Amino acid sequence: MTKIEHIGIAVKDLNSSNALFASLFGKAHYKTETVEREGVKTSFFECGPNKIELLQATTEDSPIAKFIEKKGEGIHHIAFAVEDINQEIKRLTDEGFKMIHKAPKPGADNKLIAFLHPKATNGVLIELCQEINR
Ligand code: ZN
Repeated sequence: MTKIEHIGIAVKDLNSSNALFASLFGKAHYKTETVEREGVKTSFFECGPNKIELLQATTEDSPIAKFIEKKGEGIHHIAFAVEDINQEIKRLTDEGFKMIHKAPKPGADNKLIAFLHPKATNGVLIELCQEINR
């Protein structure tokens, strides 16, 4: 893993949270993207070298909807950039970590992603992400 790629925050209403975070950072989000397969609508903010991803559920059985139902709005996951996601999944599996995704899949913002099971990582949901066009 090379750096924190972004921090994901679960929100109930992307429009009002976009306005809130735009006030916080002093600039608007730079993109929104719906990942229908995952039942999420996302927006991305830049804060210096760091990125924040806001996630709103688009369906009632979306993982984000379930998260908010259980825990309320808040930090949902931390994403780490990796050079080679397949190699990293293999390395972590060999280390005994439980992966939610044993193979990478396309995520928002032009990334291949895979999540680790939060039970294996002190309750923190961790996302691996690799830039697709590299
Ligand atoms: Zn993410």
